[in-house]
Amino acid sequence: MDSRPILNRSLAEFGETIFAEMSALATATGAINLGQGFPDTDGPASIAQAAVDAILSGQNQYPPGLGIEPLRIAIAEHQRRFYGLDFDPDSEVLVTAGATEAIAAALLGLCEPGDEVITLEPYYDSYAACIAMAGARRRIVTLTPPDYSVDLDAFADAIGPRTRLLLINSPHNPTGHVLSQVEREGIARLANEHDLIVVTDEVYEHLVFDGEHVPLASLPGMRARTVTISSAGKMFSFTGWKIGWVCAPPPLLDAVRTAKQYLTFVNGAPFQPAIAHALSLDDDYFVDYLEGMRSRRDRFCDGLKDVGFDVFVPMGTYFVTADIRGFGTDDGRAFCLSLPERCGVVAVPNEVFYDNVDAGRHLIRFAFCKRPEVLDEAITRLGRMSQ
Ligand code: PMP
Ligand code: GLN
Repeated sequence: MDSRPILNRSLAEFGETIFAEMSALATATGAINLGQGFPDTDGPASIAQAAVDAILSGQNQYPPGLGIEPLRIAIAEHQRRFYGLDFDPDSEVLVTAGATEAIAAALLGLCEPGDEVITLEPYYDSYAACIAMAGARRRIVTLTPPDYSVDLDAFADAIGPRTRLLLINSPHNPTGHVLSQVEREGIARLANEHDLIVVTDEVYEHLVFDGEHVPLASLPGMRARTVTISSAGKMFSFTGWKIGWVCAPPPLLDAVRTAKQYLTFVNGAPFQPAIAHALSLDDDYFVDYLEGMRSRRDRFCDGLKDVGFDVFVPMGTYFVTADIRGFGTDDGRAFCLSLPERCGVVAVPNEVFYDNVDAGRHLIRFAFCKRPEVLDEAITRLGRMSQ
């Protein structure tokens, strides 16, 4: 035990997540928390009531391994309603403990040691950790501001004999980039040509302000090779419930399910019927959610520009990346650590989402899924700092 670190060495580079670190800082300092991405207003009361009803009516024991049937049917109907995709609720839909578990189970179920996984940088932090836990290696394709579009030549160059799967995220956290038709088709062409599995994280599918969300599974040749992941946390503003899902053809779904069984087995019994209800809400809910977030994006991005940040206005998600160099520094981590004391606001440094740390050093991310008055107050505080 002496000669070797306690922590599994494949996890050596992964300390506490930036979200936990920055939310703790916000709590300790009383700062406005625009770091971790969670809304400060819960989703519709009818969804919360459905969970209360489920608890009181005794839906509190282990649900079935795939998830309860009404939720699997609702997930399949949602895919049909918004994208015309057909998934069989009995063999092609799996409920998971948030998208986080879906990502972990997909990587653990599909990768072997030595496999390579290609993903876009900056990347959501759990991707790197889950690739490492699967014993695989990550190959990175860097997205660069201001438009953060995918360099398809770099993507093609990253593919090699050990490439097992492409791990894609659109709308993309933290940049807010939404894949264009050219990018989608380019990625699909490469996946088809090289016969690769694609795991696509689409948790922000209902938060596209510019462009449109087109699931990768809907492109020619992609349905049979794609594992699609989404989550009720972002869609309905109940991030703490941790209900996510996977849609995939049976061989891929079975692989993900095999790993998932030994991670959580099952989760969230009373929340499952509540999310089945949520997915059946009419289109107005989804339109209002998007438009409410769009006005926050515009209000907050304008405010950030006014106080001196260079802002990369996101096409989707509820995150915005800002360049801090106008404040005389390029050290985003130090900037974020000092921000609560300087002005009572918390943001996260984008460098933690990069292998190539220098590419993200001068960038920080704000979450704008907060009440308008909270966003205004944050801008006022940030403005005081710049004087
Ligand atoms: N993927 C992305 C891109 C995310 O931003 C998040 C955070 N919500 C997740 C996955 C994890 O989602 P969940 O909270 O459902 O586990
Ligand atoms: N997805 C959220 C974000 O990017 C946070 C989730 C988490 O705390 N792991 O901020």
